[in-house]
Amino acid sequence: MNDPAPVLPSHPDVPAGDYIVSALALNGQVRAFACRTTRLCQEAQDIHQMSPVAAVALGRLMTGTLLMAEQGLKNDSDTISMIIRSNGPIQGMTVVGTGHQTVRGYCYQPVVETLHKRPGKLDIGQAVGEGTLTVIKDLGLKEPYMGKVELVSGEIAEDLTYYLASSEQTPSAVGLGVLVDANGISHAGGFMVQMLPDATEETIQYLETRLGGFPEVTYWMQEGFNPDQILDLLFGDPEIQYFSHKPLSYACTCSHERMEQNLIALGARELADLAQDPAGVNLECHFCASHYPFSQEELQNLLAELVKNRHL
Ligand SMILES: [Zn+2]
Repeated sequence: MNDPAPVLPSHPDVPAGDYIVSALALNGQVRAFACRTTRLCQEAQDIHQMSPVAAVALGRLMTGTLLMAEQGLKNDSDTISMIIRSNGPIQGMTVVGTGHQTVRGYCYQPVVETLHKRPGKLDIGQAVGEGTLTVIKDLGLKEPYMGKVELVSGEIAEDLTYYLASSEQTPSAVGLGVLVDANGISHAGGFMVQMLPDATEETIQYLETRLGGFPEVTYWMQEGFNPDQILDLLFGDPEIQYFSHKPLSYACTCSHERMEQNLIALGARELADLAQDPAGVNLECHFCASHYPFSQEELQNLLAELVKNRHL
């Protein structure tokens, strides 16, 4: 590159931790989102103690889910669930994002062999394998919205791009990056760019060219650029308009009551089986590893309630 290093705006109001920002660029023809998710990916890693490929795969899916939540959810109580079921060593992942900028997730097989594409480059596509991506958006309507696609590569960003194009008819580009080192997650973040309906052919061409040679998100983050600056670099548009910065976090919504609902959902027969055990059961939340012990008496009471309600 012969171009001099670009002088970027410093963005003095950018938060130090994890955050997401939305923007409008190229004469309002393109909508963009960018985020930093380093801390929340580390929090997931602290909870799940994953192998490097699993930590990166889950981090990418959590980052992509937060970008899609920001783009597609309106209310705090709305949720978007992204479920990958696949035949690679990690077998799949479940991630849930909410309308108030939180995410939670887990990998079905967190401890797997490390796979490399080449020295120093983890092979996430191979760790995920072939399978499907299911997206469920609960917007508080009668029925949740559901879409399902085959995985394109298992590298996650390409899979989300394909999902957005085929299921939601939204031409988009998604970039996701998670970098692990001996100490854990060193950098994580991503961006999502969407053409608005009035985007001209010229704008589409311009953006495709820029995206074509654009380095990975983690490259820019290692160089010290924040998500706003990554969008500055991607668009090369001095008129880009940024909206508010929102903090992001890893948060679980589990509770004793929710676990009770899960037990009831098992049905009378399975609940009766569990209620046989004098030791009761100790349920563990997949998302945050919290434990919820239920005594035999509690299980018997739940069962009695379930049977009673059934006969009402
Ligand atoms: Zn939990």
